[in-house]
Amino acid sequence: MHINISEISKKLNLEENIIKNAFEKRIISLNKYKNKKYIAFKKKLRHIERGTTLFLNDGMDVVMGYPKIRRALLLDPTLKKYFIDKVVVEEKLNGYNIRIVNIDNDILAITRGGRICPFTTKKVLKLLNMDILRDYPDLMLCGEMVGLNNPYVPNYYQEVDNIIYIDKNTTITENLGFYIFDMRNRETNIPLLIEEKNRLLEKYNIPHVKPLGIFKKENIEEIKNIVMKLNNEKREGIVLKDPNMLVDPIKYTTHYTQYNDLSVAFKYLFDLGIDFMFSRLIREGYQSFEFNEGEKELEKRAISIGKAIVYPMVESIKMVSKGELITEDFELYFDSEGDMDEFLRYLKELHISYVVKKREVLNGKYRIKMGRVYPSTNDKIKSHLKGSLW
Ligand code: ATP
Ligand code: MG
Repeated sequence: MHINISEISKKLNLEENIIKNAFEKRIISLNKYKNKKYIAFKKKLRHIERGTTLFLNDGMDVVMGYPKIRRALLLDPTLKKYFIDKVVVEEKLNGYNIRIVNIDNDILAITRGGRICPFTTKKVLKLLNMDILRDYPDLMLCGEMVGLNNPYVPNYYQEVDNIIYIDKNTTITENLGFYIFDMRNRETNIPLLIEEKNRLLEKYNIPHVKPLGIFKKENIEEIKNIVMKLNNEKREGIVLKDPNMLVDPIKYTTHYTQYNDLSVAFKYLFDLGIDFMFSRLIREGYQSFEFNEGEKELEKRAISIGKAIVYPMVESIKMVSKGELITEDFELYFDSEGDMDEFLRYLKELHISYVVKKREVLNGKYRIKMGRVYPSTNDKIKSHLKGSLW
């Protein structure tokens, strides 16, 4: 495939030798979706965000990566120090990040890593009315795909249960939905103001995360109450935004999330890195301090964290000892066998290892049960069980 490095260099304002070097180091990958060729940045390169996509079309359309959101370990004093005056609190949903764009009149869903995901692209077209991007092709819709029936971050959300088939004897429910949280110019990454974003999304009737409140930055008690409520409802956390988006958003998560993440991390204990585990433990320390926990509450937290670590880890060791393969399982629905195969090919291209556990056709819906394989966890436990030293 011919790639015009000098054109890319001009378009992105990035020197040619940096681009060549990035291709060699595979920081930039060359990809294809249907008739569209594009390059994707797997890492941040100078001013180009991780996950940026550049289409090799006439316009050399660029879709900037979604910026990293930094975390507050303490709400107080971080919010007072960081924000200008008011803070909009939005719910943080626990799914996967998607940017939806209109490129040459095709609606595409791009993942955090800058790849066009065939599964998500098709679901978006079914779930959302995309007139908004036909009217505003320079904008991108940034949002979270959530629900149990997705291949990346399967978590149940009661509000996205959709009946996709029903007759006297059978009901098939797909748990999948999409919520927009930002609208940005896709080439400059400049966001719309919160009010403007919500107004447009309402006008076009597009599901979006609704503000949980807007507070003076000193009013941290109210924000803490929101966090507590979300924790009780087993939800992920909050993203805090300046109403005019003049400073970058920041995030804060609930104990439930830390608990949940740790359970996952210790189930696949040799695959999810030590940094992942450590950062979640640290958050718990600051949260306990900030919420002024007494002895009882502290003990409750300690037990909860302990359980998140010990139970899944021991369960994994037991599974491997019985000769079972540790996988993360999920079920997906497709409209055709072709769509299903296309998605499996896409996962192969990404070098994601999985096993297909079951494929079936139910009333015209193609259902697949898959398990993502965590190779290090399986291999290492197996070898320790045979007596290998660490
Ligand atoms: P990073 O910290 O680099 O953004 P991460 O994978 O660690 O990435 P998270 O900890 O999940 O990400 O937090 C950031 C992500 O939260 C965003 O990329 C976005 O996908 C998701 N998110 C969910 N709800 C919102 C919201 N209301 N506003 C902004 N982002 C949200
Ligand atoms: Mg997330």
